[in-house]
Amino acid sequence: MTPRVIPLHDDRTQGLAPPEPGLGAQPPADALGRPLRDLRISVTDRCNFRCGYCMPKQVFDKHHQFLPHADLLGFEEITRLARAFASLGVEKLRLTGGEPLLRRDIEALVGQLAALRLPDGSAPDLTLTTNGSLLARKAQALREAGLQRVTVSLDALDDAVFRRMNDADFPVAEALAGIEAAQAAGLGPIKVNMVVQRGVNEDEILPMARHFRGTGIALRFIEYMDVGATNGWRMNDVVPAGEILRRLQAEAPLHPLLPGAPGETAQRWAWADGSGEIGLIASVTQAFCGDCNRARLSNDGKVYLCLFATEGHDLRTPLRAGASDAQLQAALGTLWRGRGDQYSALRAADGAAPDASAKAGDAGTAAAAASRIEMSYIGG
Ligand code: SAM
Ligand code: SF4
Ligand code: SF4
Repeated sequence: MTPRVIPLHDDRTQGLAPPEPGLGAQPPADALGRPLRDLRISVTDRCNFRCGYCMPKQVFDKHHQFLPHADLLGFEEITRLARAFASLGVEKLRLTGGEPLLRRDIEALVGQLAALRLPDGSAPDLTLTTNGSLLARKAQALREAGLQRVTVSLDALDDAVFRRMNDADFPVAEALAGIEAAQAAGLGPIKVNMVVQRGVNEDEILPMARHFRGTGIALRFIEYMDVGATNGWRMNDVVPAGEILRRLQAEAPLHPLLPGAPGETAQRWAWADGSGEIGLIASVTQAFCGDCNRARLSNDGKVYLCLFATEGHDLRTPLRAGASDAQLQAALGTLWRGRGDQYSALRAADGAAPDASAKAGDAGTAAAAASRIEMSYIGG
């Protein structure tokens, strides 16, 4: 797969894209009328966990070639691109990976991004998704650098199940200590993400719900997705969000809440007794492509317009060749206007059958499925 290079220029003087007219006044909508609001920035493709649904050990072993450091975008480069994205409507920045807290001096990047301003003068919503393993050590410094909140991934409370799922023998007590440290540092409201896999951690749904109920932390149940090409996904391994909801409702009544923001991935539900809320991210069984406003920036500077994309658009080359801010904005605007991605909706339309990873129209041919980008590289 050869990634496309965004045609900003053929050399330093030729083929320059004209600056975006009226930037900031009218942010672009994509080909399906969706605005650009959310940018996920992967800062590393490395991780100290080997969750089977994301970086299975058999594939991400000691022979796996991670990106060399020189290929990674530097903090100034990330910040420049984030500023260009902000000029096109992005209001929310999420640092992710791989495990973002493994990136050296991540606090410095947080500081630079926190200082960015949106066209209306306000600060972007700045958050980070982490497996929590380094959070106890880093929460305070992240807060001081300007991080507003965190999402922590936690798939089980049972120590044996948790260790088996992270496949790095990491104890659940340390991940929980990370969540506590984030709370103490004021990195809230905290969200906890639990990927539910049939026969693996479905018995943890209720213990997790009980644990986080009444704590102010929103637990979100995520359907296991057919992202990437290495996790061996099968529809049979998915616990549908509807089933998760039924199990929770058998515990105590829940009522639906309105979405907190347009394009929100989670369906929000509140415990009827006022003890907080949970979220359901039904990416497989109830696709939410219709208002998907997310773009992703890989650690080596490629823009991906969908989690299931097979091709990225290289921004690092023009960036390092001296492209101006106006040229970067123009290129991003062109990209976004041409975006027609709706992988999950097409998969659903095709029927999320047991072999659905090889369906979903063009984006879901077996060849496309095999060349799909890994989540650890593109950013979750
Ligand atoms: N390492 C960090 C973490 O785990 O939070 C950030 C990166 S991780 C790729 C981001 C999110 O993607 C996590 O919440 C993880 O559970 C989720 N994720 C990874 N693979 C997934 C899959 N196949 N299906 C659903 N969610 C997945
Ligand atoms: Fe690492 Fe996060 Fe992927 Fe687990 S989900 S392997 S913690 S990047
Ligand atoms: Fe957005 Fe692609 Fe996911 Fe649909 S499948 S919600 S377009 S990232």
